Amino acid sequence: MSASNAKNYRPETRLVHAGTLRSQFGETSEALYLTQGYIYGSAEECEARFSGKIPGYVYSRYSNPTMDMFEKRMAALEGAEAARSTATGMAAVTTALMGLVKAGDHVVAAKALFGSCRWVIEEWLPRFGVTSTLVNGADIAAWKQAVRKNTKAFFMETPTNPTLEVYDIAAVAEIAHAAGARLVIDNVFATPLYQSPLTLGADVVVYSATKHIDGQGRVLGGIILASEKLILDHYHQVLRQTGPSLSPFNAWVLLKGLETLSVRVQRQTETATAVSSALFGHKKISRLIYPGRSDHPQAAIVAKQMRAGSTLCSFEVKGGKDGAFRFLNGLSLIGITNNLGDAKSLVTHPTTTTHQRLTPEQRAELGIGDGLIRYSAGLEHADDVIEDLLTALDKV
Ligand SMILES: *Cc1c(COP(=O)(O)O)cnc(C)c1O
Repeated sequence: MSASNAKNYRPETRLVHAGTLRSQFGETSEALYLTQGYIYGSAEECEARFSGKIPGYVYSRYSNPTMDMFEKRMAALEGAEAARSTATGMAAVTTALMGLVKAGDHVVAAKALFGSCRWVIEEWLPRFGVTSTLVNGADIAAWKQAVRKNTKAFFMETPTNPTLEVYDIAAVAEIAHAAGARLVIDNVFATPLYQSPLTLGADVVVYSATKHIDGQGRVLGGIILASEKLILDHYHQVLRQTGPSLSPFNAWVLLKGLETLSVRVQRQTETATAVSSALFGHKKISRLIYPGRSDHPQAAIVAKQMRAGSTLCSFEVKGGKDGAFRFLNGLSLIGITNNLGDAKSLVTHPTTTTHQRLTPEQRAELGIGDGLIRYSAGLEHADDVIEDLLTALDKV
């Protein structure tokens, strides 16, 4: 392969070039290999490829050149030795956790999790005899206290969804390693550009590529990144045999998404910063959380482990659910949805969507009030977005 994977290139350059595999035609843009399988030159070659004696693709449930390019580009960006792509972010999270445990093991996770991730830990893992303890991720002593002699995995997302709390990855990694457990980080909200969990001590990083990596609301995808050994020991066979594989078409869309990731995320961060400044202290808002602000509860950890704030900003509209609904229905430019990281600005009402499954007490414990709104910055002009938000707040 060309110089495209050279370590000394900066992230923006790797996003455009790393992992590119060119066919004999020398195409400029990455090729889309929409094929299930491969034809071998001889029976001997087929045998050697199946046994792994010679490298090469054998079946697209296992790998495919377009998936391979996406994985290599992500690995170069993340500073990971190896990566495996999956059909969705949840396939990545589920595999990342299931691959580390067996019946009788125990998992410690932060309470503040994306809804489906929490379901996997609370409802799905116990069916296979894996117990868990959920802790307040900001409380370092709580992680330590939750450790048992059968603890095999720690799991958290940071910044969290939807309250944008930031947890200390290096401190939690140290506790996990002292317990002989692996730390898995869901890095969706930070994006690979703003936080590199592996360099902070985490063992595994997962993404829903559905969010900023696609960035234009088209396809679902996910990826698991870790050391070569960890991937081979814990995930390689699970992925090949159970088959949560990424479609080559979606891999191609995500690969093209990576080319523009840094310009999009930078612009979205500028807009989220402008929105948080415009809305802070507004008379219809009781609380505003933005990791780029000095009044963020974990501002010191943000400064220590992140390169910038976030493309998201959350705020609590006064008047509970009624106030939130008046606000949402008063928007004309910004779409009501449960998604994030899109070219279009989007808002979510966690209480009635992503966190509907939780009880009001569980939501209160996480700081998710009925008036909470999560705003995900798009690529529109910031002034148009702010005008729309202020107009809708007038309706509250
Ligand atoms: C969206 C999301 C997921 C799940 O990803 P899908 O691609 O929807 O399966 C997991 N974790 C976080 C933090 C997310 O935002």
